Amino acid sequence: MTRDEVVQKARENSARFIRFLYCDNAGIIRGKAVHIDVLPDRLRNGVGLPIAIQALNMLDQLQPIENLGPVGEIRLMPDTSTFHLLPYVPHQAALTCNLVDAEGGPWPLDPRSLLDYHIQRAAARGIGVQAAFENEFTLVTRTPEGQFLPFDQSLAYSSHGMTTAAGFVDDLASTLEVQGLAVEHYHPEAGHGQQELTIHHADAMRAADNQVVFRETVRGTAAKHGLLASFAPKPFPDQPSNGAHIHFSLWDARFITNRLYDPEALYGLTPLARCFIGGVLAHLPALLALTCPSYNSYRRLHQPRSWTSAFTAWGPDNREAALRVASGLWGADARSVNLELKPVDPSCNPYLALAGLIAAGIDGVEREIDPGEPVQTDPALFSNEELAARGIKRLPTNQMEAILALRTDPVMMTALGAELANAYLAVRTSEYAAFRRETTGFEIQHHLLKF
Ligand code: GLU
Ligand code: MG
Repeated sequence: MTRDEVVQKARENSARFIRFLYCDNAGIIRGKAVHIDVLPDRLRNGVGLPIAIQALNMLDQLQPIENLGPVGEIRLMPDTSTFHLLPYVPHQAALTCNLVDAEGGPWPLDPRSLLDYHIQRAAARGIGVQAAFENEFTLVTRTPEGQFLPFDQSLAYSSHGMTTAAGFVDDLASTLEVQGLAVEHYHPEAGHGQQELTIHHADAMRAADNQVVFRETVRGTAAKHGLLASFAPKPFPDQPSNGAHIHFSLWDARFITNRLYDPEALYGLTPLARCFIGGVLAHLPALLALTCPSYNSYRRLHQPRSWTSAFTAWGPDNREAALRVASGLWGADARSVNLELKPVDPSCNPYLALAGLIAAGIDGVEREIDPGEPVQTDPALFSNEELAARGIKRLPTNQMEAILALRTDPVMMTALGAELANAYLAVRTSEYAAFRRETTGFEIQHHLLKF
């Protein structure tokens, strides 16, 4: 879509405000809204923001980070191909943006440009990445006394649960359709009030943009129905968690052939697939700082029989493995076999999560990292000796362990670039310090409301 077409479409749909959106180091979706009258100018020149925005944590506490002080501007530059309407609020539309420096050049702290950089690195190796986030979220009501409660008490896959949430889900799906996201499946999940709705995969950049649209639309549509929707990893400590498993597949750079799949090979996986898996597992503890980034994320992992994963293990259709090889559709394996990374939750910044995933996988491909034997059982059943013999490690058990794993992984630090890595670690470390001092109730309330 050209800039003129964006303006025309905005006018045709009576959009008064057009949100220029980005996702920050804390995983929060933020932006500024541009009035329709100044839209043509702002599409060309961007919208200014303080340079310190990448120093904010999820409590809006500004961190003292070098070069992210009070002086200096960056700009939000929208990608015109991402224009979409926001039918859950009156007269608004949105675009997702890159963060560029004051001269319009690349800003090293922009997550969207970072993802683009790793997509290009993959493409240079003949790899095109397709991905989709498989989101779970919780519908919540608020009692007159201000207490948060799950919207219903329905069970996993319960048809009755489908009925209870039908009005909301229908509105959600129709809104996503208008926004160009192709809905595939819906079911009530195992937790009270928990829902899962999946959308079709897309190239990695579109998948990350879709994740921004999805999170916004779910929360916006719920609000329209007088409900609250939360993507917090664990909004209710006694209930199942919200994951956002990343399903991904590796294609040739033009997306014609699925380069993961070889029907003749062991487990149907090409050497490329095995090495990519090897890279992801090798860097998984560090990658977790990007994919399970919040303080609350660590209430989700390491829970028995929760299918969230706890170890650096992989396996065909193994739901307790961090990387599951998902079998394909009958008769269509070549186009549908994909890998599913389970230790990912929807509080992550999707650009950083995918950038990190691709960087880890590419390292595996370049160094030909062997992923070892697949695990055909719950790895929690292995003794410590067996885990060690198989080279399987326990995943970080809290936010600080993941931060330290990232800090001490040179490949992943290089993948983020020095400036982004420095700011990211400072923001996340500040969250750990802030939540550790507080009660569980404070942690839950903030994650429930912010995500
Ligand atoms: N709710 C689980 C999670 O937090 C996932 C369950 C499933 O595999 O659908 O990841
Ligand atoms: Mg699920």
